[in-house]
Amino acid sequence: MNDMISCCGSDCSACYCYGELCNGCNAVCGKVFHAGGKECAIYACCKTEHGYQSCAECEKLPCELILNTRDPKMSDEEFMKDLDARVKRLREG
Ligand code: SF4
Ligand code: SF4
Repeated sequence: MNDMISCCGSDCSACYCYGELCNGCNAVCGKVFHAGGKECAIYACCKTEHGYQSCAECEKLPCELILNTRDPKMSDEEFMKDLDARVKRLREG
């Protein structure tokens, strides 16, 4: 998978933070600045706890953790649209 695609299906290269504030989730091993320097819970579950390449390997996708980890700036509609795109991206590789 493209290095810019995170284990949760986000495309880091399309994020407004990319390049300025962040080099991408994979580059920082999930310790993104907005997680306060700690490993993001999704990254921790997927990579550290389960040893998956991505959540595509998990039968729970999209799980409660993913459904509850959201950008507060997004409306419900925007979030569901983004989530659909992420799941599709993960499943199609
Ligand atoms: S939600 Fe977590 S796993 Fe997904 S891109 Fe952000 S830091 Fe990475
Ligand atoms: S439970 Fe599965 S889908 Fe959810 S974050 Fe963990 S690995 Fe990913």
